[in-house]
Amino acid sequence: MMRAELGPTLLDAATIAARLDGLACEITAFYKGKPLTVLAILNGSLLFAADLLRRIPLPLRLETLNVASYHGGMESSGWVTFLQDGLPDFAGRHVLVLDDILDTGCTLQAIRQRLVAEAAPLSVRVAVLLRKNKPRAQPLDADYVGFDIDDAFVVGYGLDHQGHYRNLPDVRVVR
Ligand code: 5GP
Ligand code: MG
Repeated sequence: MMRAELGPTLLDAATIAARLDGLACEITAFYKGKPLTVLAILNGSLLFAADLLRRIPLPLRLETLNVASYHGGMESSGWVTFLQDGLPDFAGRHVLVLDDILDTGCTLQAIRQRLVAEAAPLSVRVAVLLRKNKPRAQPLDADYVGFDIDDAFVVGYGLDHQGHYRNLPDVRVVR
């Protein structure tokens, strides 16, 4: 299949970096003194997590979870596949889930439900780099949001289209 054509830059690297400073401050203030485990959802949140966590001067643990929800297309499939068995141990921990983008909310809703049901953490909060401006049927919203964006398909800074473009330093729209 042909690579998608890149459209305009939505968020450049400097804009992202500046926003991460603010997000990290909010997160640090909230979790100060609490046993924090960050759960980064792979692969999309890899760059976001790396840049955000280096701005959070707290003792924390880092875990990852591998899920798939798009299955290669440009629209959410509505079902979420957990690509690994079991969950990390979150007993006695506050969990901050990091993901690249909140679209329909299906992915994060499924993750949160499973965490609460199977791992009984002290709390679960959600941080996303991007949140699409659209109505959502899922009851889930993010507690920390880098940027609210229009409902278009975007790539870069960890987000892919069929495996490409994750390493772009900017977030760009796909035509
Ligand atoms: P949701 O379950 O909220 O509909 O979708 C969440 C997941 O779908 C995200 O973690 C991300 O992997 C993928 N996704 C949603 N919107 C976009 C987008 O605009 N671009 C890319 N590359 N992935 C997206
Ligand atoms: Mg994802």
